[in-house]
Order: sequence, then C-alpha cells, then structure tokens
Amino acid sequence: MGRKFTRMFDPESPRDLVAEEYDAHQPPPSMPIPRAARGWALLLPGGKPLSLYHQLHDCAALLADARLSERCGEGHGVRRVRLDALDSRQDCVACLLCIKETDYSKFKSCAVDTGAERRKGTRLVWRVDPVAGWSAVVIYRLRNRLVADIRTERELEELADS
Ligand SMILES: [Zn+2]
Repeated sequence: MGRKFTRMFDPESPRDLVAEEYDAHQPPPSMPIPRAARGWALLLPGGKPLSLYHQLHDCAALLADARLSERCGEGHGVRRVRLDALDSRQDCVACLLCIKETDYSKFKSCAVDTGAERRKGTRLVWRVDPVAGWSAVVIYRLRNRLVADIRTERELEELADS
C-alpha cells in the first residue's frame, strides 16, 4: 500500500528504489481501514491537537497514524464520516496528503531527525505513546518522494513557518 503511495504521488516520475524500499518496510496497521465513498471521509479520532480525516484508504499518512494509534493503545479505529458533517467540526482537519483543500496553517513545519540526517518536514498529528512518549506523524521528502513516518518528540524540532 505504501509502495503505491509513492508512485501515486507523482506517477510520471521515475521509480525511486530507496523510497520504495522504505515504503516496503512500513508494516501495515492491523486495524481495518474501510474505503470512503464519494462525499465521505475516513476519520481517525484522538489526534492532537486535531484529528486527521482522509479521502484515500491507502493514504500513507492514514496508515502511519493508524500504526501510531495502535502503538498508543488507543481503540478508536477508523470511522467513516460524511464530508459535509466535518465542515462544522473544530476537532479535525483534512489530511494534506490526500485532500487538496485543507488548512495548511493547522500543520507545523519541523526538522526531522531520521537517524541518518535532518530533513525538513511537516508534522501532521501527535499521539501519546505510553512507551516512547509524544509521537507524531510527519511527512518529509525522501529523494523525490514524500513519505509518512512516526517520530518521537525528541526526533523533531519545530521550525518557524515562513
Ligand atoms: Zn490522507
């Protein structure tokens, strides 16, 4: 699924074996993820400060957030919600990976320590991992692809948004 994501993001660009290798090693979440019909979205509750909702059931950010939610011992599960019912809700925001019309001010730029290097990325959502502490779903470029990853607070440094 993740492999599909990197191709989907820019299907015209050449294959990137490093990014595909990365995707292939992201374990899928064990919670079931339904598909969203037209007019519906997939919401994974419990995110801080806001929960993300998605259009695509195989969105890399959704898969990473689902893994993080499981790691945090949350029992929410992905819910199907009508898009028009989400407009009035203040506790969630459209995913910037799979929904074009979103409020970019709701996401923070950050520097991500990937272990090998620091990359500029965007933090989408926090959850509290009882073992690792505050952990976030972040997206950043790996070569010419965007990947979604789980990083702890210690591996992230918030950047001033320019
Ligand atoms: Zn998404």
